[in-house]
Formats: sequence, C-alpha cells, structure tokens
Amino acid sequence: MVQRYALVTGGSRGLGRAICLKLASQGFYVIINYKSNIEAANQTLDTIINNKGKAELLQFDVSNKKEIEQAIDSWQEKHKEEYISVLVNNAGIRQDNLMIFMQDTQWSDVINTTLNGFFYTTRYLLKDMISHRCGRIVNIASLSGIKGLPGQTNYSAAKAALIGATKALAQEVAVRKITVNAVAPGFIETDMTKDIDKDSMKKMIPIGRFGKPEEVANLVNFLVSEESAYITGEVISINGGLYT
Ligand code: NAP
Repeated sequence: MVQRYALVTGGSRGLGRAICLKLASQGFYVIINYKSNIEAANQTLDTIINNKGKAELLQFDVSNKKEIEQAIDSWQEKHKEEYISVLVNNAGIRQDNLMIFMQDTQWSDVINTTLNGFFYTTRYLLKDMISHRCGRIVNIASLSGIKGLPGQTNYSAAKAALIGATKALAQEVAVRKITVNAVAPGFIETDMTKDIDKDSMKKMIPIGRFGKPEEVANLVNFLVSEESAYITGEVISINGGLYT
C-alpha cells in the first residue's frame, strides 16, 4: 500500500495530539508540528512509535512564512519521492480580552496564528496536492467563529475568516480531487480550556460535559478518509448540542 503523509500543525498537545495518534493508528505517516513545547511533542511522537506507528517532529511557527517554507523544504529534502497529501490546520491560540481593552498584539497574534498560519501552510502544500490530484485539508475552526463569543473578537474573527477561506478554497480545488472542510468544536478538554469554570459551563451544554480530544480526532479522521470524498466546503460542528 502507498504510504500517505499527514501534517498536523500544533500536534504536540490537545486536539492536535489526539489527531496525530488517530491518523497514525490508521496507517498515516504523521508529521507532528509544534511551536516550542518539544517535551509535549516528543510525548506524541513516543506514543505513536510505541504503538508501532510512523511519525516525526517538524518544528515551525505557523505564523512565520519563512519558517514554514524552510521546514517543509527540509522535510522534502529527506523525502524526495513523497508528498504530503493530508493537512490538518489545527495550531491555534486564545488571547481573550474585551475589545475596548484589546492590545494590538492580542489581535495580531491570534489572527497571524490561525488565519495566516492556514494561508502560508496550505498554499505551500497545495502545489503537490494539485499535481497529484489528491488531497485532504481539514481546518480546525470553532463555535466562536460561527456564533461569535464576547471577549473573543480576535479569535471569533480569525475562526470566521478560516471558515470563509475553507468554503472558497473547496470550490477552487474540488476538480483536482482535493477536499477542504472545517471542524467547529465547542468546548473540548485541553490546555486551551483549562481556565474555564467547567461546572457552570457544563450546564449550558445539552450533553452535559466538555468534549474529548479523541472525539474531534475521530471526526477529522473521517474527513481525511476515502469515505468522505463527496464532502467538501462543509463546516461540521462538534459541540454536544451547544447550537448557535
Ligand atoms: P492547546 O491545547 O492550547 O494546543 C495548542 C497547540 O497549537 C499546541 O500544539 C501548540 O504548540 C500549537 N501552536 C500554538 N501556536 C502555534 C504556532 N504559532 N505554530 C505552531 N504551533 C502552534 O489547544 P487545543 O485546545 O488543542 O486547540 C487546538 C485547535 O482547536 C486550535 O485551533 C483551537 O483554536 C481549536 N479549538 C479548540 C477548542 C477547545 O475547546 N479546546 C474549541 C474550539 C476550537 P506548542 O505545544 O509548541 O505550544
């Protein structure tokens, strides 16, 4: 069987780690990107290797175009005959503040990570997917990008823009057999949500609990599989019934 390569941005922790583990369990060679937490990234890598999966680390900051291109070029140097056919744009940060108090850097860091990260990474990998007429792109958006959440004008704007870009790109590349979809999680148990008061928030969620990273990973796994070939330009919510 042909080895397929999947790059997961922000694969060191949280949702990204669960996605890496799931894709590796399905036979993908997983390229685990992270920004700075090498210890967490190594834990993801070790878990995959211990389960007889295939993976490697690839450090870069998704908000830095030069770093992305250098890292992918160095990967390609080592894998001359291969190409990355699956991209999961998962890396993201929260820098919440009320708009009136929001600092320039809180606005730009969140937009640069989520939106520019998607743009630079996807554009760089798209050429190979187009020439091979095969590709799967999954963008991790958020309930916040659909509904808008107070205190998150930066994050909501970045995720809403990501959803718009998903729909536009899906139409551009559909004829090349590349699908582009977004997943919009509600509240999932990761480092990103550890400061949230779970007991009061749980009461607002019809299913009565936060989601697990593995539940999001299962959905992503479906969207990168052959079975999902006719789904593109979609935004799939996974939020325990917390509709907008
Ligand atoms: P997390 O636990 O905070 O993990 C964030 C991951 O992103 C880490 O692997 C981190 O790498 C990486 N990262 C951050 N900035 C990066 C950059 N500039 N370049 C490369 N990697 C970077 O977050 P999470 O909860 O798993 O969130 C993952 C995605 O899901 C995000 O896009 C988030 O917005 C979205 N999401 C999460 C929830 C939720 O409830 N958790 C809900 C909706 C959407 P390091 O380890 O090196 O720092």
